[in-house]
Amino acid sequence: EHEITRDVVIVGAGAAGTTAANELRRAGLSVAVLEARDRVGGRLWTDEIEGAMLELGGQWVSPDQDALKETIAELGLETFDRYREGDSVYVGPDGAVHRFTGEMFPVSAETEAVIAEITERLDAMVAEIDPDRPWEHPNAAEWDSITWDAWLRRQTDDDEAVRNLAFATGSAMLTKPTHAFSLLQSLLMAASAGSYSNLVDADFILDKRVVGGLQQVPQLLAERLGDDVFLNQPVRTLEWSDQGVVAHADGMTVRATHAILAHAPVLYDRISFVPPLPRRQHQLHQHLSMGFVIKVHAVYDRPFWREQGLSGTAFSPYELSHEAYDNTNHGDERGTLVGFVSDQNADDLFTLSAEERKERILESLSHYYGPEAKNPVVYYESDWGSEEWTRGAYAASFDMGGLHRYGADLRTAVGPIHFACSDMAGAGYQHVDGAIRMGRLAASQILEKAGA
Ligand code: FAD
Repeated sequence: EHEITRDVVIVGAGAAGTTAANELRRAGLSVAVLEARDRVGGRLWTDEIEGAMLELGGQWVSPDQDALKETIAELGLETFDRYREGDSVYVGPDGAVHRFTGEMFPVSAETEAVIAEITERLDAMVAEIDPDRPWEHPNAAEWDSITWDAWLRRQTDDDEAVRNLAFATGSAMLTKPTHAFSLLQSLLMAASAGSYSNLVDADFILDKRVVGGLQQVPQLLAERLGDDVFLNQPVRTLEWSDQGVVAHADGMTVRATHAILAHAPVLYDRISFVPPLPRRQHQLHQHLSMGFVIKVHAVYDRPFWREQGLSGTAFSPYELSHEAYDNTNHGDERGTLVGFVSDQNADDLFTLSAEERKERILESLSHYYGPEAKNPVVYYESDWGSEEWTRGAYAASFDMGGLHRYGADLRTAVGPIHFACSDMAGAGYQHVDGAIRMGRLAASQILEKAGA
């Protein structure tokens, strides 16, 4: 069996792992990155489906995401704006289609006032939260013991207001039912993007894309590592002690002084640790789970909605596809729409045949854009739930009470083993920006220990 020795072994060649590896190499340490899949990038995956370039995973960059923006600039990649000219569309509880501009959904004046008032309250709460340490807020225990849905319903009995408020951190971000996570978890999601209002503002959170695709970030970072990235090498066993680690993958073994597990925390369990991890990690890892969302891509011969004065931006908490956007590639004549189907709606869809799923999803898109939406030339569903090395989308979050109880130890190293992933970030949580920040953090923790 092929055996090599390095200063640091990194498990996972996503944005976090490739960032950490580059930081460590720059500081003079040797690295090996072991990647389970036959490609780098993890949840970043730019692929061609029936001749259409699609962002199957993460794609958007927002103005506060400094770590990602720095990396994009440093790699010489270019960005372009999401198309946003014209009206957005909102479908109300009665199925009526409303056009609107700006951030406030076109709801009744009373509902609008309720949404505005609660948004202000949320922004004030979020402002008090340090996204790196939400568990330290004086109300953290209390806020982690009430569900996001229950808290909202205590503020108002206006159902449409609740659904619209719930949505930004629910179906649109944590992609779990709003009764399945806490108010504190919701506030962290908002704090990680600067404010609750930022999250609601599509022009902020979904601002730019990278020309040629966001997967180029980990790809270019991996290229710099050359022969130190090993594909098709799922790490199955990790022996560890104060002296270091031995990582056993399918076709090779790496001896190293330190390890970074740079993948979703739900996958720690797939590795046999020898000796086992401490009790605290055994417990905490059981309280994290992946959200679930289907990203739907529909490509048309032209962006027909623009002809109707529509930006492509569409929302409805009552629709199967609760949000959808113009996702046309830079310089492409064809028009692409992207829609999302979240949590229990996604579960339900996967009980149907592929044909029925497509029909239901396109029916939902047609409510926003009209009947032409039903006839794409390319149609594709990103199904991350079936990916063995991811198991859901977009990322992991704590169950009720878990964030307050365990959050503080999420990034704590265990002997030579460090943890880095977007799913444990403060700023940039559940985003590529957070993955890069966590890659940098784990690298700096190791460099500190190594005295480098
Ligand atoms: P990952 O990308 O999950 O990388 C981990 C790597 O580790 C994977 O390559 C995996 O194969 C590998 N691995 C796992 N276990 C092992 C093992 N035992 N041995 C070896 N290798 C292993 N973020 C944004 O910023 N903007 C967006 O618009 C956006 N949209 C998204 C849309 C979708 C559909 C999805 C799925 C995600 C989206 N995200 C978005 C989130 C973003 O993609 C992730 O947060 C980020 O890419 C995670 O990076 P990571 O390096 O932490 O983990």
